[in-house]
Amino acid sequence: MTSVTVTRYVVLLGGPGAGKGTQAINLTKRLGLPHLASGDVFRSIRQEDSELGALVRSYYDKGLLVPDDVTIRMILAALSADRYVAGAMLDGFPRTLDQARALDEQLEASGRAIGRVLYLRVPAEELVRRMSGRLLCRGCDAVYHERNNPPREAGRCDRCGGELYQRVDDSEEAARTRLETYFRDTEPLVAYYREQGKLCEVDGQQSVGAVGRELERCVSEEGR
Ligand code: ADP
Ligand code: ADP
Ligand code: ZN
Repeated sequence: MTSVTVTRYVVLLGGPGAGKGTQAINLTKRLGLPHLASGDVFRSIRQEDSELGALVRSYYDKGLLVPDDVTIRMILAALSADRYVAGAMLDGFPRTLDQARALDEQLEASGRAIGRVLYLRVPAEELVRRMSGRLLCRGCDAVYHERNNPPREAGRCDRCGGELYQRVDDSEEAARTRLETYFRDTEPLVAYYREQGKLCEVDGQQSVGAVGRELERCVSEEGR
């Protein structure tokens, strides 16, 4: 391909509860990139009364990864929509080496590539605290935390007044499984992208604003 369309693909990498979704809200706005969160895709499918819905529930609800064949097919199909043709903020995908390789292949096939991988480093015990206090809005998917980022009125979304709920997979047992899965299957991606020279590592234990400023610096260095 000789065309010089500016394409920008940014991957958000980090453990469950590291702050990917929280940061994506601000970053997508600042960078003008559309947000594609695999967890949102699966949360929507798991509500469906279909075979696929049942399959997703059987993994998601236990804190297990949806198998690679299904995930790769679904998320790469979603990514091929027109709105992602010039770039995207990928949040929660890839999560395994096979997913990462499949993503590289699909992008390369059309002369595109991942520009930057933003790695939010947060220790396991803090991930547990973040998951166990996390609250989501039924109306607009806004993310809160019981202690770190409480809504003004308990149980109600500041933005849309919607009801707040706890994710089924933030329960203690599923959260433990997700952490184990993360360290086994997803953390190897840190080395994978570091070797490609694409990794930008940020201390995710800082305030939401401080993390956001560092991430912005990472992406503004993208064209070095
Ligand atoms: P992820 O998408 O990586 O799973 P979220 O963005 O949903 O993470 O954040 C997980 C929880 O941690 C939420 O309850 C959120 O409010 C809280 N949180 C996010 N970033 C921070 C931060 N920098 N400091 C403290 N709490 C945070
Ligand atoms: P978190 O924000 O806590 O990191 P997500 O919302 O991204 O969690 O994902 C929730 C669940 O959705 C995962 O535990 C898994 O069941 C499923 N899921 C999301 N992304 C993927 C993926 N790339 N591969 C397999 N399963 C996924
Ligand atoms: Zn809301």
